[in-house]
Amino acid sequence: MKIAFFTAKSYDKYYFNQQLSGTSHEITYFEDALNTETAVLTRGFDAVCVFVNNQVDRETIELIAGYGVKAVALRSAGVNNIDLQAADDAGLHVFRVPAYSPEAVAEHTAALILTLNRKTHKAYNRVRENNFSLESLTGFNIHGKAVGVIGTGKIGVAFCRIMRGMGCTINAFDPWQNEEVIEMGGKYMELDELLANSNIISLHCPLMHETKHIIDKQAIDKMNNSPMLINTSRGALINTADVIEGLKEKKIGSLGIDVYEQEEHIFFQDLSEQVIEDDEIARLMAFPNVLITGHQAFLTKEALNEIAKTTLNNLSAFEAGEEVENRVRP
Ligand code: NAD
Repeated sequence: MKIAFFTAKSYDKYYFNQQLSGTSHEITYFEDALNTETAVLTRGFDAVCVFVNNQVDRETIELIAGYGVKAVALRSAGVNNIDLQAADDAGLHVFRVPAYSPEAVAEHTAALILTLNRKTHKAYNRVRENNFSLESLTGFNIHGKAVGVIGTGKIGVAFCRIMRGMGCTINAFDPWQNEEVIEMGGKYMELDELLANSNIISLHCPLMHETKHIIDKQAIDKMNNSPMLINTSRGALINTADVIEGLKEKKIGSLGIDVYEQEEHIFFQDLSEQVIEDDEIARLMAFPNVLITGHQAFLTKEALNEIAKTTLNNLSAFEAGEEVENRVRP
């Protein structure tokens, strides 16, 4: 298939080119995101390949379908950035990579927790300046703390395994209970109970209508322990303005995020010489107890390799007229 690959980065090209050999696919890499303005680039291509920072709306879908595109291959697990109904209406098949490496995301979540708690990012900078003072570097023992896990699917359960290994108890919330979580001693409870009784709260559910702003003022008001809040799932799971207030009022003890509600205008690019116009992320960056990474939880060699392999397999199966297991329907 002829594949138009959008928002291509060096690491994407490296891993996709490795997996291309032995297939009949041809990839053209574009640095731009797919949108109504760039849709014209897809003329003559069979498929487009996009990541989470491409907002594939109805208008874009209708344009690319008009240019002859038959499939949208998401190189991500989440599908919230694509209008699935519009794709279905236009006769486009949509594929995703459901589980390229849950451990990659779970391990980055643990990295955020450890860094935020023990302030190794600050210590690193201090020591480079010959400042060996320990003032304000005090953390807390993770061992023995209650970790609230919202969403116990593939990533959530991998995260539970890590936190159990560190001696934490698990408070879980998910409409579907995962046996493995129960077997490792995790306790399912209502969301309000989890919010009230956890020292660390980590989000691992998908972004959907029901989960948008699952952490808002109401939820924050139910937090008793001034918990550390971690989001490596999707930005819009938290209401950023409410979380900023929660941090100011010390209802939230600290915040670690790898995702941000308005991230498509900011993440995955070097803005070091530009003025950040987004006041909410600027406010977040000003807190001493907030740690932000730019949607890198997936970024391991193993995950990138798996993303490339599964994405190309999805398109090979589609080309061969097979039922594609990773097809996403509205
Ligand atoms: P998954 O489908 O295996 O698990 C999601 C879990 O969320 C399921 O158990 C589901 O029952 C649960 N859930 C659904 N509705 C819920 C609700 N209202 N409240 C609580 N739980 C609910 O998905 P996964 O592979 O574990 O991935 C989870 C999310 O992680 C993805 O949707 C994606 O947004 C995010 N993600 C982020 C990165 C990153 O680099 N930061 C990478 C991959 C995935």
